[in-house]
Amino acid sequence: MLFEIKLKAAIPNANKPVKILKVHHQLGAVVQEGDALFDAEGEKGIVAIKAVASGVIQGLSVEEGAAVTADTILATIDGKQQVWSQPSAPSDFNYFGNLVKAVKQELECDIAIIGGGPGGYVAAIKAAQMGAKVVLIEKDALGGTCLNRGCIPTKSFVRSAQILNTVKHSGAFGVLTEGAAVDMKRVVKQKNTVVSQLTAGIQHLLARNGVTVVDGIGMFQDEHTIMVKRKNGETKVTAKNFIIATGSKPARIPISGIDLDQVITSDQALQLEKLPRSMVIIGGGVIGMEFAFIFANFGVEISVIEALEQCLVTCDDDICAENVRHAASKGIHIFTGAKVNEIIKTETGECLVSFTQNQTSKYIPAELVLLSVGRKPYTEDLGLEELGLQLNERGQGIAVNDKMQTNIPHIYAIGDVTNKLQLAHVASHQGLVAARNILGEPCTMDYSVIPGAIFTDPEIATVGMCEKSAKQAGIDIAVGKFPFIANGKALTYGEAGGFVKLIADKTTGKIIGGSIIGLHATDLIAEIALAVQNGLTIEQLSGTIHAHPTTAEVMPEAALAALGRAIHLA
Ligand code: FAD
Repeated sequence: MLFEIKLKAAIPNANKPVKILKVHHQLGAVVQEGDALFDAEGEKGIVAIKAVASGVIQGLSVEEGAAVTADTILATIDGKQQVWSQPSAPSDFNYFGNLVKAVKQELECDIAIIGGGPGGYVAAIKAAQMGAKVVLIEKDALGGTCLNRGCIPTKSFVRSAQILNTVKHSGAFGVLTEGAAVDMKRVVKQKNTVVSQLTAGIQHLLARNGVTVVDGIGMFQDEHTIMVKRKNGETKVTAKNFIIATGSKPARIPISGIDLDQVITSDQALQLEKLPRSMVIIGGGVIGMEFAFIFANFGVEISVIEALEQCLVTCDDDICAENVRHAASKGIHIFTGAKVNEIIKTETGECLVSFTQNQTSKYIPAELVLLSVGRKPYTEDLGLEELGLQLNERGQGIAVNDKMQTNIPHIYAIGDVTNKLQLAHVASHQGLVAARNILGEPCTMDYSVIPGAIFTDPEIATVGMCEKSAKQAGIDIAVGKFPFIANGKALTYGEAGGFVKLIADKTTGKIIGGSIIGLHATDLIAEIALAVQNGLTIEQLSGTIHAHPTTAEVMPEAALAALGRAIHLA
């Protein structure tokens, strides 16, 4: 049924045009009864115009800034009023204010999914495509950490930092620019634009596939029921199967000063509208190092304190050394084997980070401290203990088998909450595996060929076995290494640092892994992933013609190097 949204529902006596300040949802979005659709500026202040039904926004006739009158149709919703029918309201009766609170829904489905991140929403679409009736429960924004606070926002920041760098060094390319500077408000705005576009796309995809999205915090009541609570109502969802895809949140460390206002996590770092002069990053893992390069490129003085003996510890030593060399060239100070003891607020409002390295106490002053010590699976407040759902050995994450099934056979878990590999594409693939198993297409999750991308400057990417892990596994390997300094395209970009390294099994000639640090590394890794996944040999890769001039030309050269026959290497 089609429901019209008009201004007079919120401002019954509006006799003058009223300005629309904010449009909360895009065309195709799935909304619930009572969700704010628009903010309008009435005579008595800002008023929310809410959805009168749950469903999909089919028509959207106004933009932000538009002036509308009482009878203007602002939007139409194709959907249902679940509990109450729209009364014919007297002109001065605000039925939304009085009735929306009472909304109670009951939904039944084949699969209920908690969490709309890259794990949950992909599982929802796949299951719906396979004919299941799916309900997706999300307490915050669709797209989860990945789209709203993770992969995409950081890459938008990376791009802004790259552009600044390019402009600053444009003179070397014969392009004269002056006064390049960063406006963080615009950097954040650009990031928000990209995020909104992508989340609207997901809303649209879910709607198109007939997935019912329920807004609110989901918690198991029993093995077949989830109660979803939100400000203006609750929904009881009963299902035959469940997928828990609740993700993760920033981990914390128990040290004095950790709760100071100056100590932020990645969530707040992505909202910074003013750059600090200096920042200490606690933790030199992937997220910490990405932020180190982003903010260093923006001109912030960066220090990284890492407890282990090297940053990005899962990478090979030569990759780490190359990364450290580039970090040093950008003025990033790295302290490894260093343990943070406390964070002290100084009289000037800045921080002093106290740490021990080589049994020596050291201090670094900083305007902000970014805590980046990993992420903790989100298992609290889901009612899991009452269900008897098993966690992993260390109590970190939900235990699953290779079909993504928990110890309760009709309850599955995917993504960061399983604490296997905290990557968006892993979460999505686990989602596909879970959906297929639930719907009678048996399959298992294989973690042996998972590419990893690190957006430092230059980028790093890995897949399959690295040199270190292959040697530890006792495999007799051939290593083919080729530097970007010998690649024409990298030189034209003025970014010829780094190298590609292919690892092959000497006995079979099959490529079993690879690492890249250099220009376009995160895109180039796809070729090695394809080779490893399909058991291609170094002969096959070296025999494949690659277009010239491209960064991809480093691939056949590295394969030839493994055979001792690289063409463009003395
Ligand atoms: P999430 O994306 O965290 O989604 C879980 C969703 O569940 C959230 O939306 C949450 O609101 C919802 N939820 C939780 N509890 C409830 C509840 N009780 N009821 C209803 N809803 C609930 N990965 C990459 O592969 N590449 C990258 O470049 C990359 N960069 C990153 C950068 C940063 C700064 C961060 C923090 C992470 C990055 N990641 C990256 C990791 C990636 O974001 C995660 O691995 C991915 O988002 C995990 O997906 P998920 O679906 O398991 O969980």
